[in-house]
Formats: sequence, structure tokens, C-alpha cells
Amino acid sequence: MSDEQKYSPGVKKYIKEAEKFLDQKKKALERTKNFKFDTIAVHGLYTVEEALNLNQGAVIEPLYLSTAQAYRDSDELEAALSYLIPTWCYSRFANPTTYYLEWALALLEGYQTGCDTSCLVTASGMSALMLAVDCFLVKQTNGPEKINFVSSIQIYGGTFQHFSVRKMQERGIEVRWVHHPEDLEEWESKIDENTRFLFSEAPSNPQLSFCDVKALADLAHSWDIPFIIDSTCATPALMRPFAYGADIVIHSLTKSITASGLAMGGALVSRKPIVTKIKNDHPLFKESFAEYVKFLPFRDTGPAASPTNALFALNDLRTLRSRMDLLSQNSEKVAGFLEQHPRVYQVDYLGQESFLYHPLAKKYMKLVDSDDGKGHEINRYGHLFSFRVDGPPQNARKVFDGFNLIMRAGDLGRIKSIATIPAISTHLQQGEEARANADVPPQMIRLCVGAEDPDDIIADLDQSLNSL
Ligand SMILES: *Cc1c(COP(=O)(O)O)cnc(C)c1O
Repeated sequence: MSDEQKYSPGVKKYIKEAEKFLDQKKKALERTKNFKFDTIAVHGLYTVEEALNLNQGAVIEPLYLSTAQAYRDSDELEAALSYLIPTWCYSRFANPTTYYLEWALALLEGYQTGCDTSCLVTASGMSALMLAVDCFLVKQTNGPEKINFVSSIQIYGGTFQHFSVRKMQERGIEVRWVHHPEDLEEWESKIDENTRFLFSEAPSNPQLSFCDVKALADLAHSWDIPFIIDSTCATPALMRPFAYGADIVIHSLTKSITASGLAMGGALVSRKPIVTKIKNDHPLFKESFAEYVKFLPFRDTGPAASPTNALFALNDLRTLRSRMDLLSQNSEKVAGFLEQHPRVYQVDYLGQESFLYHPLAKKYMKLVDSDDGKGHEINRYGHLFSFRVDGPPQNARKVFDGFNLIMRAGDLGRIKSIATIPAISTHLQQGEEARANADVPPQMIRLCVGAEDPDDIIADLDQSLNSL
């Protein structure tokens, strides 16, 4: 019996109705894909028809706090719970508000990359990361005992802990660290047939290291494995890794994307299809990885974003491009000031020509839909950087404690300027040796510049540095 015959006339009626709806969605998607970045960011897939027909004309995407959807009858319930029609039966794995955010992110990350994409929004960046990597660390029938993956060591402190403790110590999965993510030969030397994926962060937090995105994607693909990249600090306004072959992009939405600092969130975005040699019978695994994760592992583990958080993220996302432009320009000005300051012995900013990772950042970080007058996009380097204060670590603490305007917090990506000392905060847990390996000395202050007038930030830094 074919699937078609199996269903009762009542269920079939709902499938037919859904086809009409899906057709409309498809048309909306095609239309939206032709819009510019800012237009997609402002509207996403929330169309006029959707507002009028489904949401009482609400101009802004409504916040659906309800945990579940009610159905008209048993036939609709059956169709929905068999995934035969679009539904959001239960908020742990689908919610209309979160869905608008997922589509906006999928479209922005896929913008002008030539790739179709899908996206899953999660409760936090860490849960998006966990869900993405876990799918490739599964046991395979007749597979090897020992598996590994290769990762840059210059990554977010939480990701380092996740890899070194949760994966290596607790599960015996070997993490092969790459110390110089810009060095392709180092990556090559760490891969073998039991390597499940390559992972990097670009730009990395807080070291601002970079990698050759295209070269790493090509290298991964030559081994039939995916390249997973965390580009939280770039955001799709400054870099879209799918254009260079990356398979999966991870974001902490908690950072620059939700710059207001009002919500936590994460996103797993994937291209269609991804490269992998993992055997998984589910057709979506390769074809639409983010959707696969959403319908299966995510459903079964539960790190769902709260719809309120999704709406905050969606709201901030609308102005992402212009905001990243402004914040990058402010950072350039502040970094320029610090470079000249006699109490500062090192400034690490991607926009600085002398910085080790500048050439790679210059190649990849460009403000989307900008024009330098000669038909090229303008480089913008984000709003994260670090500087190192002369003398013993106490000096850095003194400067840090002297800020009047800049907030002292482990946070970043905000509309407000925020600073931290990574060695005693974000990178505390990993220990001195790992910090030395990752080049996070106690003299380093990480600064993420906000949307204040940069002259006021400079004045705050100046008074504090001069108090030494
Ligand atoms: C903060 C951060 C994460 C983790 O995201 P959460 O939303 O805090 O869970 C992952 N990667 C990078 C680069 C980050 O800065």
C-alpha cells in the first residue's frame, strides 16, 4: 500500500489544504530571495498575506507563547503529528515566532552565496554547537573504535571546555588541536580517515584568529567530511561562510545579532546538501541538516529557545547590517587611539594591517551590499578587539577597574561598550597552560565597542590608562 492510499479522506483533505499553504510559502520564499540583505533582515518570511490571513493584520511578527497548537479534528491531529502538514504541535520543537527567526537567519546566511539553506534556532549558542557536532560523533556499524575531530584551539572558552571535557575526557573522542588556524599544513597533518569533521571559529573570541575558510572547506571535502564554522563574531552582515564552501555555520545569537542584550539564543544553519560520510538513512541528514536536527536530535534533547527570546533576536536582526557597519567603524577609531597610547604594548584588531590575521580577515570580512565606489564591498572588521596593558597583570586590572562608562562584564556584542579580562573570566576554567597556548595572557583586556560616540569611549579609556 502506498503512503497515499494509507490515509483516510479526512487526513488527505488536510494534506491538500497544506499543499496550497506550502505553495504560497514557496512563492514568498522565491520573492524574498530576490530582496537585498536589509529587506530580508527587516521582513524575513513574514509577508503581508501571512499578516492578514493568519495574524489579524499584525504588522510585527506576533509572539506565540502558547505551548501547543490545537487541531480542528482527529484527522488534522493525525496529519500534523505524522509530519504530513506544516505544524507547530508543541513548542519544544516548533513555534511560529521562532520559525520567523529561523527563516530570516537561513535567508541572510545564504544571501548571495548561491546556496539553499536551512536553520534551527536553539536556546543558546552552546546548544547549537553541541547539536551540530554530536551528529557526526555517533557510533557507526563496523566503524572504528577511536574517532577524532580536528579543531582550532583558538576558540570560545565554552567551546574549548565542551570539546576538551565533554567530548575528550568524558566520551573518549579525540580532539586534535590546531594551534595556528591560519596554517593549512597543520590542519592537513591532523586529519585521517577517522576524522569526522573540521571545526574553526572566525574571527575567534577573544584571540581574533582567522582561518582560510575556503581552503578549509576544500580540505574537509577532500576527506568527505564537513567543515563547521562558528562565525558569531562576524555575523552574516560581514561574512557568509557558505559562499566559500562551509557546510554548517554556528551562531551564538546572544552576541552581536541580539545586540540589545535582552535574550540568549543560538543558531545552526546548514547548506543544502552538506558533505559527510556518516551513514544515516534519514534523507534530511545530508539534504537539509538543520531540519534533520530539528525534527530528530533537537526534539529528543530539548534545548528550545523561548519564543520571547526569538522575538528579541528577530527584532535586533532587522538592523544588523547598519549596526555592524557603525560598530566596526567605532572600533576602528578606538583601536587606532589605543595603538598610539604609551601604556598599551599591543592591540589586536583585525582591521590593523600589522595584525597576523589581517590578510585573511581582509579577504573574508566585508560589509554586505556596500560599495567602495569601484564596485567592491568595503572591509569591516567587527567590534571585538583586545589590547594589552604594560607591566604586571595588576596594571591591566587597575585600568579595567578605572572605567567609568565601559561596562565590566564577560559579555560581548552589545550596543554598549563592554570589557573583560579573559584570563580571569571567559578563559579562567581552561587553566594557565591552555591560556598560554591560546595566547590569552593576564595583561589582555578584551573590549567590544558599542554604539556610543567613540570619542566618549576614548576619553574613558584615556583617563583610566593615564591613572597608572
Ligand atoms: C558566546 C559564544 C558562544 C556560546 O554562545 P551562548 O549563546 O553563550 O551559549 C559560542 N561561540 C562564540 C564565538 C561565542 O562568543
